[in-house]
Amino acid sequence: MGVDLGLDLIVVGSANADLVVAVQRRPGPGETVLGSDTSVLPGGKGANTAVAAAKLGARVALLGAVGEDANGELLLDSLRAAGVDTSLVRRSQRPTGVAYIFVTPDGENSILVSPGANSALTEDDVDLADARVLVASLEVPVSTVEHAVSVAAERGIRPVVNISPMAELSAGTLAALDPVVVNEHEAAQLLGGADVDPRGLLDLGPRSAVVTLGARGALVIDANGTQRVESPQVEAVDTTGAGDAFTGALAARLAEGSDLVTAAQLAVKVAAISVTRKGAQPSYPTAGEIAG
Ligand code: ATP
Repeated sequence: MGVDLGLDLIVVGSANADLVVAVQRRPGPGETVLGSDTSVLPGGKGANTAVAAAKLGARVALLGAVGEDANGELLLDSLRAAGVDTSLVRRSQRPTGVAYIFVTPDGENSILVSPGANSALTEDDVDLADARVLVASLEVPVSTVEHAVSVAAERGIRPVVNISPMAELSAGTLAALDPVVVNEHEAAQLLGGADVDPRGLLDLGPRSAVVTLGARGALVIDANGTQRVESPQVEAVDTTGAGDAFTGALAARLAEGSDLVTAAQLAVKVAAISVTRKGAQPSYPTAGEIAG
């Protein structure tokens, strides 16, 4: 059954419990390092993106899967508290996905994901209601995302895909994206090198591309050229989920009809606030905080 009409965004992607441990340094091979107590926080690229957009006031549904377990309840509670429509979130027999996150004193993180229920999201689960924008990321099966993009394109829903984690998308899927969103490392992988002109991303087919540059902001690449959008300078405490905050905010603004550069200008603001606070979803600002 579909969700109510009148959505701004449908997000296709993962929902994970983030098990976050602060460490002085990452353990090397064969090494044991003692860390802080574990915080269990709602996360996952799809759920994060949906929450970021909903906190800004967008009408959002998440199409995803969680297990019949306590972590699944944690995710559903967090999504609902942020105002995300959860009627397209499937309950699976597999455990809810878990991300094991180590955060070092410089605010950087290393992440291992056990996808669990996210792997059970199939093409058959793709049920797109009317929406303006579809946003997907790749902690769910690539075939599911490709199907969702193709259905969205047929229905005039603008498809945005964050190619994270890196995976190969078909030429047909890439050609539908407006924009493709990647970080610097993913861009280098797609372009075949770090020093390659980022405009080469458009040669892969998408109508537009956005490359996030961490503390340096983002690059917007489209038919009008390449434009750098500067990030506000902040003290990073925890960058977990910054990319998802960026993508959620970008998509929320695109759904309002903004152009890509204007949308990226909001996205860097939202993502900069998110890195000054701990966690992913709990760190995302509301529309009121952005206006103030
Ligand atoms: P993550 O995996 O940490 O979620 P990412 O690797 O996908 O992020 P980044 O380019 O590191 O992507 O960050 C995404 C966006 O978050 C950046 O474009 C920027 O707007 C914001 N951001 C990240 N780090 C910082 C920082 N230290 N200061 C200000 N903004 C930041």
